[in-house]
Amino acid sequence: MKKNTSAHVIIIGDEILYGHTLDTNSHFLAREFAKISIDLIQISAIQDDKEDIKDEILSSHADIIITTGGLGPTRDDKTKYVLSEILEQPLEMHEEALRWTKEYFERVVDRPMNVLNRNQALVPLGTIPLHNKVGTAPGLWTEMGNKILVNLPGVPFEMKYLMKNEVLPRLLKRFHPIFIHHEFVQTIDIPESELAELLNDFEHDLPNHINLAYLPRGKKIRLRLTGKGDDLHALKFELNQQTDKLIATIPDEHFLSRDDREIEKNVGRILMEKNQTVATAESFTAGAIAAALTSVSGSSGYFKGGIVAYSVELKEKLLQVDKSFAQKNGVVNKEVAMQMARGVMELTKCDVGLSSTGVAGPTADEFEIQPGVAFIAIVSHEKEAVFEFHYPHLDRKDFTKKMTEMALQKLYQFLR
Ligand code: AMP
Ligand code: MG
Repeated sequence: MKKNTSAHVIIIGDEILYGHTLDTNSHFLAREFAKISIDLIQISAIQDDKEDIKDEILSSHADIIITTGGLGPTRDDKTKYVLSEILEQPLEMHEEALRWTKEYFERVVDRPMNVLNRNQALVPLGTIPLHNKVGTAPGLWTEMGNKILVNLPGVPFEMKYLMKNEVLPRLLKRFHPIFIHHEFVQTIDIPESELAELLNDFEHDLPNHINLAYLPRGKKIRLRLTGKGDDLHALKFELNQQTDKLIATIPDEHFLSRDDREIEKNVGRILMEKNQTVATAESFTAGAIAAALTSVSGSSGYFKGGIVAYSVELKEKLLQVDKSFAQKNGVVNKEVAMQMARGVMELTKCDVGLSSTGVAGPTADEFEIQPGVAFIAIVSHEKEAVFEFHYPHLDRKDFTKKMTEMALQKLYQFLR
């Protein structure tokens, strides 16, 4: 069988290895390669060191090598000089690249070019500079035998610009890659095994180039249909039809959405449909639920606001939590969760009140409620619900994140 085209991403920069900068470039590039079914076989991160850069490039087995970083105008930017050594070709002023840099300075930078900036247009003979319209360092495209070496700047938006506008079109022309396309469907409140049973026939009838994956998260399952083909347009059309078929198989009460949107967007959609408003009363999640709700544009149409009542005193003062009950039982229990939700509903005159109270840890509260215990209450004029959660294995940050997601899932189910 013919082997797929392979790629190797080399991240160059001391800042990555010191832990000062999180390498996001390789993540972006990995996704881009995955989309066109080029096998990314290696990601390396190396220092700003000439020998290391040279070794890494020369020892690579991939058909396509992409480096990011080290293309700037300063002394620590060495990629171009390494390239010149590898090719045994001198650096020469590339007139077109020089014009690009000049244009960029006129258009964007409010100062004259200096020698270092001019030097950015120096390119080893035999290398093609790639026009970087969003920065001063051109990318570089070099054919080395049957391998392709691409050097991109480290600045993420410049790297992305060049990848999308200059590199990918060239790669597509050359390698006729296979396209990969995904469609998502989300379900809620149905166990994975039950869903799998329902979808058995659907899965069985799928053509070979399309497969179905189950990606559960809490009570939610993301179903991903992935297809491969050499005609992107036809592939999208086919996947669209399969998605229709898939949705028709899922019982209405378990269907969440035809996308992989976050739950908060679906909560927003349903509140808008019902013309209802919501408000939050949060303790340990400290506004995270409100932040998630308001991350959706248009949320001012249904989100009234939120109270972060971290102290017992504020819970009593703002949310009418019963003082003597709290003194006797603490504030991490069903009753207080309910009182908080009712309190915020009363205070804001909203249609739905949601509350959170829990122990994020790492130590238990004074009533010996252990870390990882939480209560979420949701109330409306028609009904009330309260949910208890135990996640003792999660640390403070992960627990808050998890409970924010669970609160939104419960809210969604409550509204349906
Ligand atoms: P350079 O092209 O090496 O001069 O990189 C310029 C800047 O881009 C660095 O100072 C980092 O802030 C950023 N950068 C470089 N490499 C990466 C990377 N792999 N991921 C995210 N940011 C990066
Ligand atoms: Mg650098």
